[in-house]
Amino acid sequence: MGFRQEGFGERPREMHKAICADCHKECEVPFKPSSGRPVYCKDCFSKRKEQGR
Ligand SMILES: [Zn+2]
Repeated sequence: MGFRQEGFGERPREMHKAICADCHKECEVPFKPSSGRPVYCKDCFSKRKEQGR
């Protein structure tokens, strides 16, 4: 195809320190945690993904 999205995937992901709302472990998330919204670590995130629908 030769279609290239410039600037997408090139810049390093900014990681933000956060506390997991589930296991209360310190973790890093690729988005800025906003107050009022629970943040989950990788483990708990995938755990919830498996469980919940
Ligand atoms: Zn967790």
